[in-house]
Amino acid sequence: MRSKYVWMNGQVVPYADATVHLLTPALHYGIAAFEGIRCYATERGPAVFRLRDHMERLVGSAKILGWEELPYSADALIAGCKQTIAANALSECYIRPIIYLAEGGWNLNICGTKPGIGIAVWEWKAYLGEEALARGVRANVSSFARHHPNATMTKAKISGNYVNSFLAKSESSRLGFDEAIMLDPSGFVAECTGENLFIVRKGRIYTSPGAPILEGITRSTLATLAADLGFAVEERPISRDQLYVADEVFVCGTAAEVIGLREIDNRAIGCGATGPVTRALQQAYAKAVAGEHPRSAGWLDYVGLELLADERVKSA
Ligand code: PMP
Repeated sequence: MRSKYVWMNGQVVPYADATVHLLTPALHYGIAAFEGIRCYATERGPAVFRLRDHMERLVGSAKILGWEELPYSADALIAGCKQTIAANALSECYIRPIIYLAEGGWNLNICGTKPGIGIAVWEWKAYLGEEALARGVRANVSSFARHHPNATMTKAKISGNYVNSFLAKSESSRLGFDEAIMLDPSGFVAECTGENLFIVRKGRIYTSPGAPILEGITRSTLATLAADLGFAVEERPISRDQLYVADEVFVCGTAAEVIGLREIDNRAIGCGATGPVTRALQQAYAKAVAGEHPRSAGWLDYVGLELLADERVKSA
């Protein structure tokens, strides 16, 4: 996760200087909003996938937390992401912007508090392992329920929400699985610890309704790519046993990309390997992020060769 430079509150600083104090309230109460974004190597240099959509979700998460005004606009943060990538001279990377409770809030009230903002980048290849793409992974249904939408806010990518993901993923890993599927408080399939979920049955694709989950940007990307391939994606409640008898189950997220679930709760799914619909979507997604798909132009935000050259001169 090391890089040369990090963007901190408007300035690009050396990695070692991008620190916060022990008494930063975000660390105590989990009050921070963040994003996970990927930048891909393309023929025209590094390009960030759906950068504006991610930044709008970030600003939305801060609003859900209760911050009425931020020191930087979505546009300034978009420029900050590109500047950080260029300063680090990375052709491909993961981008982690975070808005955190920097000052105040010891009385558990967001009013009058001060947010700090940072953007880090690092090289991060396959989140669930290289083999996962080809073979698919094994998942369990977690004993931990996903958030109730009126307990913590599920549309926001808030740091504190990830306690729930940590509990589920750690349990899953200790049981020998690769990922955990989480059910919502009424017992229907919600999402995974860091991915949204789809099932394929009799040539149709279904995904859980948006209300109790984080509405992923990869999820919406796949809905478009699936429609291009002639599949309509239907949102409807999915029960645990519908997973077991599905022809294919796959999960998606910025970090994981598109991954088939070859086994759930020790039951083989479909043919027990990544299925044909999952494979077609994996291929379309790989083309889209690499700038090789008709949809790429609308989704990729190029860092720009001039900015790359400028930042190289500054850091030389
Ligand atoms: N659900 C959860 C809980 C997540 O953490 C993520 C990753 N951000 C997703 C879904 C997928 O979202 P996206 O496709 O925007 O990365």
